[in-house]
Amino acid sequence: MSAPDDMHQALVPTADPAWVIEQDGLDPLRDGSRQSRFAIGNGLLGVPGGRTVNRGTRDVRPPCTWVAGLFDTLRGDAAMPVLVAAPDWLRICVTWAGSASICHPHEVLEHRRTLDMRRGALLTESLLANVPGVSFRLRVLRLASQADRAIGLQLCRLVVEQGNVEATLEASFEGVECGLLVDAIEEDAGLWHTNTNARRLAIATATELRVDGALLPPVRRVPLGSVWSWRTRPGQEVCLDRMVAIFQGTTPDLAATARDRLGHARGLGWRAVLTRHEAAWAERCRLGDVVVEGDDAAQRALRFATYHLNGAANPDDERVSIAARGLTGADYHGHVFWDTEIFLLPFFTLTWPAAARAMLMYRFHTLDGARAKAARLGWRGALYAWESADTGAEATPAHAIGPDRKVVEILCGTQEQHISADVAYAVWHYWDATGDEAFLLDAGAEIMFETARFWASRAGMEADGRRHIRGVIGPDEYHEHIDDNAFTNIMARWNIVRAIDLAALLRARWPARWDDLADRIGLETTELEQWSDVAETIATGLDPATGLYEQFAGFFGLERIDLGGYAGRSVPMDVVLGRDRIAASQIIKQADVVALLALLPGEFADATGAANFDHYAPLCSHGSSLSRATHGIAAARLGRAQVALDCMMAASAIDLADDHAAIDGGIHMAALGGVWMVAVLGFAGVSARPDHLAIEPLLPVGWRSLAFAVQWRGRTVRLRIEAASQIVVATLQAGEPMTLVVAAERHLLSPADVLRVSFRAPSRLPQPALSE
Ligand code: BGC
Repeated sequence: MSAPDDMHQALVPTADPAWVIEQDGLDPLRDGSRQSRFAIGNGLLGVPGGRTVNRGTRDVRPPCTWVAGLFDTLRGDAAMPVLVAAPDWLRICVTWAGSASICHPHEVLEHRRTLDMRRGALLTESLLANVPGVSFRLRVLRLASQADRAIGLQLCRLVVEQGNVEATLEASFEGVECGLLVDAIEEDAGLWHTNTNARRLAIATATELRVDGALLPPVRRVPLGSVWSWRTRPGQEVCLDRMVAIFQGTTPDLAATARDRLGHARGLGWRAVLTRHEAAWAERCRLGDVVVEGDDAAQRALRFATYHLNGAANPDDERVSIAARGLTGADYHGHVFWDTEIFLLPFFTLTWPAAARAMLMYRFHTLDGARAKAARLGWRGALYAWESADTGAEATPAHAIGPDRKVVEILCGTQEQHISADVAYAVWHYWDATGDEAFLLDAGAEIMFETARFWASRAGMEADGRRHIRGVIGPDEYHEHIDDNAFTNIMARWNIVRAIDLAALLRARWPARWDDLADRIGLETTELEQWSDVAETIATGLDPATGLYEQFAGFFGLERIDLGGYAGRSVPMDVVLGRDRIAASQIIKQADVVALLALLPGEFADATGAANFDHYAPLCSHGSSLSRATHGIAAARLGRAQVALDCMMAASAIDLADDHAAIDGGIHMAALGGVWMVAVLGFAGVSARPDHLAIEPLLPVGWRSLAFAVQWRGRTVRLRIEAASQIVVATLQAGEPMTLVVAAERHLLSPADVLRVSFRAPSRLPQPALSE
């Protein structure tokens, strides 16, 4: 075990304010809404950032651990898998002179919570004084190891400021019996199982406590913990280190696995566990960090976004993906949405391809579920679950309670079908950016073909000579059961066209693999011809005269309501107007046609991108956390840097602003992915093509520079955009020479070079700012 005296240093947060998020003071009523912001995670474990030392009954949310893949199935109208909360392993209860502090605010003289984004850890510092004449300063660190995902570490250092009293400290677990069924609880390990699907959870734990450097044996063992007792004196230093090893799975010997792994970590000692975590985290920062000079608020937004993104992924587990709230809260039950493919995959593909690959493999492993869903609804190919959990079966709840307390039917599980094209979109962009042939041949191609096949069967030819997709929900969920949603149809067409391209590529480059795959999934030339016909005849809702896409058939005929009259509202527009009125209006929940502009700008000829943006943005009520960032990406593509920046900051504020409680149920992962996308895909204008990486910068006013790294086809490219000199500085830190296109001009980037290239005034013309 490590020496206790260096714990002091380990508990001091990073000094640079650009790398920390701080919150001072203790407010038990608001602790729940702050937990998500301060969560730690590593893609296997997620731990909300609430208090765990001497928690009181006033604390709103019980602490817990979220473990990726730990799904149980709720029996209701329809079986629905939910991620179940695992016990909290951080509980500490300190007693002074027989009196347990419950951290009533008046007993907490100081309290500071610091999210250390450079180290990937949460630190707290408090000064507690619950008994007259006794006070102590407490510093606690917690982390979920980025080096060994099964391992959690807690360090706690308590310094007595005043008091000569009997003290006890109990380090144990909370919530041992909630959510899961207990198989066995011992002092050093627990084993649980889920109710319905024989999934197990095992946690092994070990804690040591030292008083003034001397190891103190516990006076008592308790389930999953120990109790120590000693006499205090001013200046005394009490150091505790606790490690846990957490596994979920179906194997019977899971507890032994957890004990073994814990034994290994204990053999290393907490200092080595901390150092290894910090080194692995530093590598993630090296590859994923975005540095902005000239705008501290934007820097903070970007760092906070990449902190939570890096803490959400697990490249070693292809059976899970990132849920809408990551592993930070209970909302959406750990389900995976299009959020992952559209808003998170760009970050992972371009900064952490191994993590992106694992998430796409999750979609490959759930392809049978998608095939089954398509077949159940009467179509061919693969229709992915709108909400996906462990098996890929549809996990969208059939009902919810609406804001008016009425039971509302949820139709997304059958009607929100663009998910299949969204998955294909992410597969294709991953392939373009990485050139990962093994992935393409083993998994990606099958996804591309089965999703294209779905669309080809879904778009029915009608008397007008066009194919229509009827009865869907687009990204704007205020309008259900609509026909020819422009986003869905154009994404479907894109999916089909890419699949046709891919068939040609496979035939030319890997004919034997093509034959095998085509044979296995029964794909014949005649079917490919039919796909071409579908792509050519699918309705898009484009009005050639105005260049506007109609969001869906009949949208332009709906009631137009001026959102300006509702400025300052604190609830979404569907709550203000009610479901029926909003469905009959042109008010949009979130970017829909604008999302198309963000994802497929090539579908908009010349000035029609701006025309569509200007038409739809004023109709959008931003009732989804995905919406602002999407507008930001689209605005940046149009050259409207200030609008894009406003959108980026609004997206970031959803989780980062401390003045509302929107994050009780967890961090909005897609909004954070969107923040990164606005900066890197929007302001830097990065796009990854098979034969080159392109960049077309347009920085907001006030940004002196923007710097980040991109992974492209086995290379690490570091880019720095300097506003004053209009120069891009590019270095190739790893990999073979490559082509970098800066503002439409090709350059050779070689390992030894530092390429300094001027980028002309933006080719994207600045546009007037948007009012809403
Ligand atoms: C949005 C969806 C999103 C889901 C999960 C909903 O409110 O409308 O687009 O996928 O939240 O984030």
